[in-house]
Formats: sequence, structure tokens, C-alpha cells
Amino acid sequence: MFETLTKGFRAARNRLAGLTELNEENLEPALRDVRLSLLEADVEFGVVKRFLGRVKESVIGETITNEVEAKGKKIKIGPAERFIKACQDELVGMMKSEGPALVHAKAPQPTGIMMVGLQGSGKTTTSGKLARLLESQGKKPLLVAADVQRPGAIEQLKVLGERLSIPVFSIPGGRPVDICTKAIDHARKLKRDVIIYDTAGRLAVDEPLMVELQQIKTNTKADNVFMVVDAMIGQDAVKTAAAFHERLGLTGVVMTKLDGDARGGAALSIREVTGAPVKFVGMGEGLDKLEEFRPEGMASRILG
Ligand code: GDP
Repeated sequence: MFETLTKGFRAARNRLAGLTELNEENLEPALRDVRLSLLEADVEFGVVKRFLGRVKESVIGETITNEVEAKGKKIKIGPAERFIKACQDELVGMMKSEGPALVHAKAPQPTGIMMVGLQGSGKTTTSGKLARLLESQGKKPLLVAADVQRPGAIEQLKVLGERLSIPVFSIPGGRPVDICTKAIDHARKLKRDVIIYDTAGRLAVDEPLMVELQQIKTNTKADNVFMVVDAMIGQDAVKTAAAFHERLGLTGVVMTKLDGDARGGAALSIREVTGAPVKFVGMGEGLDKLEEFRPEGMASRILG
């Protein structure tokens, strides 16, 4: 994961090692290393430009400190470390989100989480992973099979539910909006406090899908609308997320398959391009492979 980026940042750090001061001239080759690796990692062009601009401004303008605390003592750091610190701060800045990963409804109202996204993005698997994660935090989730489009999606969710011993609500032949609305009463009856709606995906964004999702959002008053995005499809994923955000007002993104993506550009661009922050990341096919997204940790991984 992030090999392309890590290589670029390392090359830049090596270039600056041993310098005593930073200026426009000696900074340029390092910025070029980073620029190339960001583009190669499929980070959106405008995002790359703004990122480099901000890094340059903070190291040349010396808004980045040249002292750090280590073991209670202040030590001076050189240009290479200052540059990396500026990159770290900017990476965190572009990925961070305001507010918690999950918005909870006021009890006794169950918390609603709508999972949306294209077919194959990992939506159904992620619904199961999220249910498992929430249960491990003491919640009582209910999974709702509202993907009536993809053959096998309902069965897949039921199998996941069985493996996790988490109830799954479905209505054979039902309309997605009705299934989701009725699931709320069902959750109350079963005393479940979180409802995860696994909605239908399509191969591309289309109008009937968007109308259906809007109706589900309105009728269920879901507190969270998460788009599940496949990191491996890079900038296309970012474009699709922008279209979903515009129509649905996403509260966050779950980025899947980061384990299989050596580039990681989508994770870096998506908040800045769409306005929707990454809240969780999928790091493998296993049901325990979902983590709350931590920009600081991700930035450190990228910097290597
Ligand atoms: P849906 O059509 O969006 O509901 O997609 P599925 O949940 O059926 O997932 C599609 C494929 O992606 C399955 O083979 C999943 O096991 C796989 N998948 C989902 N999340 C991840 C992840 O974080 N990492 C990896 N490597 N595979 C994943």
C-alpha cells in the first residue's frame, strides 16, 4: 500500500538531506519527486498542485518549526525533516474530517446507516464488517437487505448475518423503500439500536438508482450515508463519489480494497475533490478487516 508515494517522499527527503537551509531553488527537485509520485499514485491534478503549493509555502515561509520535542528536550531539525513535517501536516489536513466516524441517533431511536455505492465496490461485505465492528463496541446492529438488483446480494447478506450471528431483515419481492422503512419497526421489536441498510448498486451512476436512494434516505431519515468506494479504481472512484455526494449528501466514505492498491490516490483526493471525508477503510476480504480511518496514521504510512 502506498509504495509509489513512499518512494517519492523518500527520494525528496534524500535530496534535502545535509542541506543547511531551504530556498526556492534547492526545494524544486524535491517538490518534483513528490509531484511525480502523487500523479503516478493517481491523485487528482488540482489536489497535487494545491498540496505542493501549501508545502512550499510552509517550509520557505518557515511556518514549520525547526525544533521538535524528543524525550522532554527540544532538538533542532534540519531542512529534510522540516520538509517531511510539512508534508505530514498537509497530508493530514487534506484527509481529515470534522466530527465522529459515526453519527448516533438519540435513544430510543435506532441509528440509521445507509450504505451506497457501485456494484462490486464491496458494499455488502462492508455492511457485514461494519455490523461486526459495531457489535464489538457494544451495539446491537440489524442488517437490512435492500439490494434487490444484484442477484445473490440478499443471500450474501444473510450468509454474512449467520456467520456473525447478527439478524438480517428482508422482504422477498419487496420494494427497497418499503423494506428499509419497515426495517425500523422490526429493529424496535428486536431491540436493535443500529440499522445498516445495504442498498442496491449499479455498474454506473443512473437516475432510477439515485431516485431510489433519495427516497430511502428521506423515508428512513438515516443519520449516516456512507458511500463504499473501491480504492483500486482511483480517480474514477473520486468522480463517482462526487456524483453521489451531490445527489445524496454523503456523510462519509468507506474506502475498500486499500490493501490491494499500491497507489492510494483516491484516499488522498476524495475529501478535497468531493467534500466527503473518509470515515472507514477496508483492508482485506476478512470480516475483521475494517478500521476507523485515522489520517495521522495514514500520513505516516505514506511517508514511510
Ligand atoms: P458489492 O457488489 O458492492 O456488494 O460488493 P461485495 O461486497 O460483493 O464485494 C465485492 C468483492 O470485493 C468481494 O470479493 C469482496 O470480498 C471484496 N472486498 C470487499 N472489501 C474488500 C477489501 O477491503 N479488500 C479486499 N481485498 N477485497 C474486498
